[in-house]
Amino acid sequence: GQYPPATREMIRVISHQVSVSLQNARMYQQMEEKATTDGLTGLLNHRAFQERYEQLHDLCERTGQRFSVILTDIDHFKSVNDTYGHRVGDAVLKRVSALFASRARKVDIVARYGGEEFVLVLPDTDATGAAKFANRIREELEAQTMTSDNGSFKVTISMGVAEFPVDSRDRKDLVEKSDQALYYCKEHGRNCVTRWRDC
Ligand code: GH3
Ligand code: MG
Ligand code: MG
Repeated sequence: GQYPPATREMIRVISHQVSVSLQNARMYQQMEEKATTDGLTGLLNHRAFQERYEQLHDLCERTGQRFSVILTDIDHFKSVNDTYGHRVGDAVLKRVSALFASRARKVDIVARYGGEEFVLVLPDTDATGAAKFANRIREELEAQTMTSDNGSFKVTISMGVAEFPVDSRDRKDLVEKSDQALYYCKEHGRNCVTRWRDC
């Protein structure tokens, strides 16, 4: 009764508009999150990775700051699926993703690049530092034991590293070079980290 009807009506209209705006903002945020996140692992998806990577690359082109790209592929993952089933395979993908996410720094880009491939971009990090980081994660995963209804097993990963700008200035070429380094691991026993320049 403190306010006249006209004021009350105005407050009602404004509060309604505010609540609609808030709802829209929340919905937009949820949609944005869904569009950029990989459903299984919770990491950035491929498209979101390309966006973030392009931004970082543009920035480093300007500032001259280095960064490293680490491409990772799970070793013999097909046989995990074949032996223990797709559901267990999915659980492994989640475990590996969680390990990456927990070890990465806030500024690092961590994404699911494809099926069982992951990509990390470490700003302000040279290939030596990136390879050390990669090896720590690789060893940590190697030390873990995966469990399933059909017994326990181990999972290993191979990782290729390339550095901007010394290995290449080109964004796509850097990923290509880390892929070549990854391929080198696959050809040389897997469960290892290779820098492109050491291939
Ligand atoms: P390599 O050591 O040479 O990498 O051998 P690999 O068996 O890991 O390589 P390959 O590319 O032959 O197999 C990749 C497998 O990853 C095949 C595919 O079924 C599986 N995969 C891809 N995405 C998913 C997924 O989302 N869930 C599960 N469970 N498996 C997946
Ligand atoms: Mg693969
Ligand atoms: Mg593989």
